[in-house]
Amino acid sequence: MRYIPPKKVRVIFLIALLPALLLTVIGGNIQSKPVMFTGIGIALLALIFYRIWYRCPHCGRFLDRSWGEYCPHCGKRVNQ
Ligand SMILES: [Zn+2]
Repeated sequence: MRYIPPKKVRVIFLIALLPALLLTVIGGNIQSKPVMFTGIGIALLALIFYRIWYRCPHCGRFLDRSWGEYCPHCGKRVNQ
């Protein structure tokens, strides 16, 4: 598995999540299930991606909602 820096994972996650939420809302408004489910699908993929790759480069543990500079598990700097 290729390593992706946590900073990049955050950016990719947010970029993917925005259109996903938009599609879900638009799909709800125009009552189109395919559009809504595409939005939900992209959101789920973004979450899975985040869950797998958003990790500390030192101890390898999932960083969860910690968006700070330091790992909450080992205390080392996350973004070099
Ligand atoms: Zn760590």
